Amino acid sequence: MLVILSFLNNVFGLSFQDKEVEKKYQEQYFKEHLEQNVLAAKIAILLYLVYAPLTYFIIGNEVSLLLSVVTFSTTGLLFLITIYKRELFVKYRCSFLYIVAVIAALGPILFYSFTHNDRTIFQVDIVIPIIAIFTMYGIGFSLALLVFIFITSILLILAYLVNMPEMDLFMALYVSLFGFLMSAVSGYLIEKSKRKLFLAKMQSDEFKFIIENSNDAISIFDIERRLYLYANQIALRRNSKKLEEIIGKHVSEIHSYLDDSVIDSILKKLDRDGIFNDVLHLQDEKGNFYYVHSMIQYGFYNSKKVLISVSSDVTELKEAELRIREMAFKDPLTKLFNRYKLDEYSILEYDRFQREEHDVALIICDIDHFKAVNDTYGHLAGDHILKKIAQLLQENVRQTDIVARWGGEEFAILLLNTDKNKALSIAKKLNEIVGAIIHKDVGKVSISCGVSELRVGDTQIEWFSRVDDALYEAKESGRDRVVYK
Ligand code: GH3
Ligand code: MG
Ligand code: MG
Repeated sequence: MLVILSFLNNVFGLSFQDKEVEKKYQEQYFKEHLEQNVLAAKIAILLYLVYAPLTYFIIGNEVSLLLSVVTFSTTGLLFLITIYKRELFVKYRCSFLYIVAVIAALGPILFYSFTHNDRTIFQVDIVIPIIAIFTMYGIGFSLALLVFIFITSILLILAYLVNMPEMDLFMALYVSLFGFLMSAVSGYLIEKSKRKLFLAKMQSDEFKFIIENSNDAISIFDIERRLYLYANQIALRRNSKKLEEIIGKHVSEIHSYLDDSVIDSILKKLDRDGIFNDVLHLQDEKGNFYYVHSMIQYGFYNSKKVLISVSSDVTELKEAELRIREMAFKDPLTKLFNRYKLDEYSILEYDRFQREEHDVALIICDIDHFKAVNDTYGHLAGDHILKKIAQLLQENVRQTDIVARWGGEEFAILLLNTDKNKALSIAKKLNEIVGAIIHKDVGKVSISCGVSELRVGDTQIEWFSRVDDALYEAKESGRDRVVYK
């Protein structure tokens, strides 16, 4: 079974292309399996220590005695190395040295065996592989080998006991060599697959390490029950939770905003686009808002279809973006939209008007004799009045209306869904409200306003010019008033 498995593993298993990486892992493998290898070698050597005198006892000639003594002492030495110099044992693969030594001795022994029809050969061919393979490949290989060697040995002993000289040398040699080959192949495959699994484990450990220590929060969710299955360290830290506090919990228990309806909408987007890729505005446990860029995808986890979310904190980036946006669209002194933004809105409204002919009107106001205010009371007092008037304008129109600083001491108000009469009354109301305020030191400050609605056939410029003309007229006719054109 193990052999088949290992074979399948080798045929279909993982392959490691990078030889350098493989070498690195193999070294690690040998280090980690040092104990195992040394133990295997000890068992093999001990077996041989018993086996060598036994074969001499069975065969009983001088060559056998000589061989027993030589191999007994070399294996004895190996045994001592496994105890006292185990690193050496693995590093120099003592089994190799041993094989070389025995193979060198094998020629004369084989020659002697053939010419004298002597069974001493068995002593060699059975035992060499045990030690060699045990030490080279560890337990997996050796176990398989042992089984075959055991069978071979039984056959040999039987052959000897029933005294069958025909089957003698070649047959037994054939059987034992066959056994060796079989076990060598199976053991090799087992070992190779073990190594590959080890490499795979090492690699998956590395991936795990990378994922655990990633700067992005990585979480895995069960789709059907919406449960947390995994969260890496950053994800846990962001939620101030431990892994065991998260696993198996419904997502909304950890993030209240991620209720079933939000998850449904994420899934809908996922099904449509194949990926959810968006910036989410979230709130942590302490109530602090933060932004995350989330990429959510389907994946498989323990052969289950899951959601895998990778999100990075983009709060600083997003806040910087918002600041820049504000700088681009807002006037820093009054915090109103700037002329550029009002222009943008007015183009949108103009386009909408071409399709729908809805009501839209524009007021432009200009502070009266503002230069004199500056000159008399100073620029700071002027700034203060600008801010105050901006605030009054903003407070006295609808939220949907667009109030902007149009120029130095000029303001423009785009009134959406407002007809000419309503626009005129709003302008008058603003004129009154601003004029009614008595500013400390400065006293009263008035504004003049021009008003006009967008009409069919107008270009945007014509509409704005008409409002400008109205404002000019208001100024010319005495200021502190509203003119409709
Ligand atoms: P009019 O009634 O004809 O509008 O007279 P005016 O003095 O208001 O008009 P004018 O165009 O001659 O002067 C506008 C003044 O607004 C000049 C400038 O000093 C002032 N002003 C423009 N921007 C700012 C600002 O940001 N802060 C302050 N304090 N004053 C500003
Ligand atoms: Mg002006
Ligand atoms: Mg002015």
